[in-house]
Amino acid sequence: MSKRNGKCALCKKETELTFEHIPPRSAFNCSPAKPISGDKMLQDNDRMPWDLEGLQYSNQQRGMGRFSLCQECNNNTGTWYGDAYRVIAHILNCILKQGVTADTKGIGIKDVYPLQFIKQVISMFCSINNYDDSRMDNLRLFVSDKNKTGIDKTKYKICMYFTQSNLVKYAPLSVVLRTADNGYESMALSEITAYPFGFILYFDPVETWSYEGIDITDFANCKYMDKADIEMPLCIKEMNDIFPTFYRSKEEIMECFEQNKAKKYRS
Ligand SMILES: [Zn+2]
Repeated sequence: MSKRNGKCALCKKETELTFEHIPPRSAFNCSPAKPISGDKMLQDNDRMPWDLEGLQYSNQQRGMGRFSLCQECNNNTGTWYGDAYRVIAHILNCILKQGVTADTKGIGIKDVYPLQFIKQVISMFCSINNYDDSRMDNLRLFVSDKNKTGIDKTKYKICMYFTQSNLVKYAPLSVVLRTADNGYESMALSEITAYPFGFILYFDPVETWSYEGIDITDFANCKYMDKADIEMPLCIKEMNDIFPTFYRSKEEIMECFEQNKAKKYRS
C-alpha cells in the first residue's frame, strides 16, 4: 500500500498516512474513480455540475478516498465499523434497485449495529475535514474508542438520506446561508454523498433551522454490540449539485443557469 507523511485525521499523530476508502471499499467503492475538485468545475460558467467531460482528474484506480489515517487507525476503524456500514449499504442497494415504487413510504432494516454504523460515518467526516479544526475534536475521540457512546446534541446533529446517484461528493466544513425573518441565518455543515447514502454533519444545530434528511444522531446512544431494527422514511435525494445541501433536479439547475444568463444579457 502506498503511503504519504502527514497528521492522522483521528489520532493526530505525525506519521506515514495510509489510503482510507471513503466510503469503505466493500460499500460500492472499489471501482476506479475520477476525483475532480469543485473549483475546476466552477471555472467554466456554462458547465452543468454533472458534466465531467474533459475535466482534469487524478485517476484513483482503487476507488475514492484520502490519505488521511495512520495504519493503526485505518485498521481499527475498518475492523470495528466497516462491516456494519457495508451491511446497511448492501441492504439499501437491494431496496433501491428492486423495491422502490411511488407508494414506498418507509423502509425497515433488521438486526444491524447502529453505533458501529454512525462511527463509520463520523470517521469519514474526520477524514475529509481539517484535523486542526477543534470542532472535530469530540468526534475524533468518539470514533477512536469503539465503546464510547453518546454525542453532545447541542454541538452536533447527523442526518442521513438515500441517493441513486453514482457521483461521490465530499464537502468539508462549509457555511450555508438562508434568508430568515431578521435577515440571514447561517449554519456550518459538512456533507458526504456516496451511493446509496448521503450524510450531513451539522455543527451547533439550532431549532429554527430546517434540516435535510433523517436525524440519526441517536444511533450514538447504542452500545457497541447493540443490534437494532431500524425503521425510517424513504428519503431519497437527487445529487446533481456540488454545493452542500442542494438537491436540485437537473431541470431545476438548467432553468437556474438560463435565468442567470438572461439577467446578464439584460444588464
Ligand atoms: Zn491514527
